[in-house]
Amino acid sequence: MTKNTSNMFHDTLLNPEEFTITYELVPGRGSGGKRLEKILRFAESAKADGRIKALSITDNPGGHPALSPTSLGLDIQAMGIVPLLHFSLKDKNRNLVESQLFECHRHGLLNLLVLGGDYPRYGFQGQAMPVFDLDSIQVLSLIEQLRGGFSVKKGAPGQQMALPSMDFFAGCVVSPFKTLEAEQVWQYVKLLTKIEHGAQFVISQLGFDMKKYQELLSFLRDRHIMIPVIANVFIPTLPVARIMNKGLVPGVIFPDALLARMEEEAKNSDKGEEARLLRGARMVAALQKMGYTGVHLGGNNLSFEAISFLLDQTTNCTGDSLHKEIHFPEKTSWYYPDNCLAEDSPRKADFLFLCNDLVHKQFFAPAGRLFPITKAISLFCAKNRTLRQLYTLFEHISKKLLFHCRMCGDCTLSEANYLCPKFGCPKIMINGPCGGSFNGFCEVYPKARLCFWVRSFHRGAEPDCQHLHKSTLLPPKDWSLNRSSSWLNYFSGKDHCHIKNKD
Ligand code: SF4
Repeated sequence: MTKNTSNMFHDTLLNPEEFTITYELVPGRGSGGKRLEKILRFAESAKADGRIKALSITDNPGGHPALSPTSLGLDIQAMGIVPLLHFSLKDKNRNLVESQLFECHRHGLLNLLVLGGDYPRYGFQGQAMPVFDLDSIQVLSLIEQLRGGFSVKKGAPGQQMALPSMDFFAGCVVSPFKTLEAEQVWQYVKLLTKIEHGAQFVISQLGFDMKKYQELLSFLRDRHIMIPVIANVFIPTLPVARIMNKGLVPGVIFPDALLARMEEEAKNSDKGEEARLLRGARMVAALQKMGYTGVHLGGNNLSFEAISFLLDQTTNCTGDSLHKEIHFPEKTSWYYPDNCLAEDSPRKADFLFLCNDLVHKQFFAPAGRLFPITKAISLFCAKNRTLRQLYTLFEHISKKLLFHCRMCGDCTLSEANYLCPKFGCPKIMINGPCGGSFNGFCEVYPKARLCFWVRSFHRGAEPDCQHLHKSTLLPPKDWSLNRSSSWLNYFSGKDHCHIKNKD
């Protein structure tokens, strides 16, 4: 078993004297070729230069098949530079998640950036199947258990076996650049929950609004959360900037004003190359001055020489975060806490929420007046095959009409303000939204369908920006319950309400 003796990325990130620089590598489709050779040359130069402390490797970026981060990670590690693997969940079920974690640990690939990932797009002979069996918080929680020495409980394969502790260094992502309150509040609720369940560092989404970068840092520091935070700084070429500006890159807000500026710069003799690198340098200097623990650089058509030039230039920059060259706020952006404090009253739940909540509290909440009788009837029906089938059919028809129910057997309606995530969210997110929404619209249905969690936000009174707190982590759905009655599973103690770390 190879073990990289020192985890430079971990050590510098936790060293307050250091400002950690990482760079993002984006492998393509195939196991070799020009693109990979260019990436490996970049890694060699980065190793020789020494300023970049880790090279992150994307995991099937954009939802397209690509060389796995584990494979390239081993190449990078063999060169003596630390890899930071993106660990996305779009293509893996929970068993593959665990086996890939074992593989990473076996090879000393300990730095992981855990994220849901872009919705799967074309693959072999058509669109790939979206998996998302686990979400990023559930995987951070699993990794935290593996760090602590995971004991496989009685009844699961390999029962009573204690797995050795696995010293992963796992981080999460968050987007402070959302334009709507509903999107932004959920990003911060999810961030607090990710940190509660084991995230050891945070990398922001890429953005161009310096006030929003400041907002993320203040959000954590005001709560005395001193977790390392790395700002994502992306240096696009003009063609990529045009694509981003159209909202075609999940979760990325690219301001019109910056695009106009880049269109102007493209008239320069170097087609705006130096201008984009100087902008990157100014952003790095400003983010270091702001108090970020480091920056995560990325971009397209960037040689190591270009990145070296950018890093050289940071020393000549003032670090003024509101410098006109780097601060491009969206006119409509919602800011925390400014816009939150401006709200004169807490949010109110809508009529549909109140009706559903009343029924839920009376029939399904243990304190409800009708709970005992509902439970008794349910358990009675569960014992008789015909009654159970009729009961399940009644549940299915009523919930299909009301909530587009998919009979997953493990209902989380009450945790999503009485909307069904299995129907409403293409990634079936049950612990809050992914980072892919754009101006409130779903990543998968841009400008066509609102994000499920934006709709859920406007249904209920929670989450509320005036009382932002972490949420209760819901465990992953137990597929053995699929197509069965979730009411019976609830009353017989089989669903998530009764599950604590079942494995
Ligand atoms: S509905 Fe929201 S959380 Fe679900 S995939 Fe779309 S943008 Fe992401």
